[in-house]
Amino acid sequence: MDLKIDPEELNACVQCGLCLPHCPTFRVTGDEAMSPRGRIKLMREVQDAGAPLTKEVLRSFDTCVQCRGCETACPSGVQYGHLMEATRETLAAKGKVTPRWQRAALMALNRPRMLRAGSAALAIANKFGLVPARLGLPANMPVRQAPLKTSGHDVYLFTGCVMDAWQRSIHAAAQRVVEAAGYGVEPTGALAPCCGALHMHAGLAKTTRKFARAMIASLPDRPILVDSAGCGAAMKDYGHLLGTPEAAAFSARVFDIQEWLAPNLARLPVSEPLDVRVAIQDPCHLRHVQQVHLATREALAPFVSELLELDDEGLCCGAGGAFSVLEPELAQDIRARKLTSIERVDPDYVASANPGCALHLASSGVPTIHPMELIDAAINNTPLPAK
Ligand code: SF4
Ligand code: SF4
Repeated sequence: MDLKIDPEELNACVQCGLCLPHCPTFRVTGDEAMSPRGRIKLMREVQDAGAPLTKEVLRSFDTCVQCRGCETACPSGVQYGHLMEATRETLAAKGKVTPRWQRAALMALNRPRMLRAGSAALAIANKFGLVPARLGLPANMPVRQAPLKTSGHDVYLFTGCVMDAWQRSIHAAAQRVVEAAGYGVEPTGALAPCCGALHMHAGLAKTTRKFARAMIASLPDRPILVDSAGCGAAMKDYGHLLGTPEAAAFSARVFDIQEWLAPNLARLPVSEPLDVRVAIQDPCHLRHVQQVHLATREALAPFVSELLELDDEGLCCGAGGAFSVLEPELAQDIRARKLTSIERVDPDYVASANPGCALHLASSGVPTIHPMELIDAAINNTPLPAK
């Protein structure tokens, strides 16, 4: 079967295996079919040699977290993300991955009213303990949230779908920080309801392209700040995804919020650092995809008493978009390694710039916090979330 992978990109892999120790699914299973090298070999067998799409082959592709830790580790510059995205798009088009229920759930993300109503119902059910813990919903998930208000038109703050429905307080903290630096903020709200990152993961690239075109048309001119690493990575990829100069120009205006704040720190009011020891968890989409994870350290350093590094070289935590829901056992095994690294430094908080990672870690009792919440607490005296 033609998986529609660029042959040149597919042939770039020399099967050296140097990426294996950086692959979370290989680390917890020791199974070659669950490694980047194994998955690429299977892609070649299917695309070049016409090998059948057996259950085992589909399982190998399905269990990839799409963390792209292998890309960072690869000395041959293999664009693994492109290989897996093309594979999943082809398989989804043939109905081999991403079942109907998952497609229906994903379509709700671009419908803010439906998403808000569904989230409110989930929040109520969660309060009564009716939601399975593996969904990783925040314990304090809000039923209603105050709207964010536009304070000016210097920058957009991308608010997105699930994060806005479940964790709008993080957007509010981010907005206060950007305003404290002297910029007027326009939260994007219904202007741009969803970036399509989860659709892309699921192989529904056509939908992501549709969302990308709509977002490019509705957010002209200004910098777009993003406080979710997964969304930022997707939006920075619109140039490649759509292949137009307009999309490339849009992507160049997208900034992870820490990336944008780091060179603007001198504009923030001076404050005493908070007396907290904070471990940094690098979301894969910040470290391996956007490659701007160092900005989180730069932005946080003046505002906390101690920053702590984990000793796992940015290995994935197992959240992976919807991965923790779709593959709960693998996701928990992967998370266990991260928890061990966190225990070794024993922090007051773990700072994560991606809502999926934060929820996945928090559901096992880790006191997670967004970097913007820490900075907001330091400069605006807002209370820190309960640990
Ligand atoms: S993806 Fe890169 S590191 Fe991994 S086996 Fe292929 S060439 Fe080696
Ligand atoms: S993207 Fe992550 S899970 Fe998938 S093969 Fe690469 S390292 Fe492994």
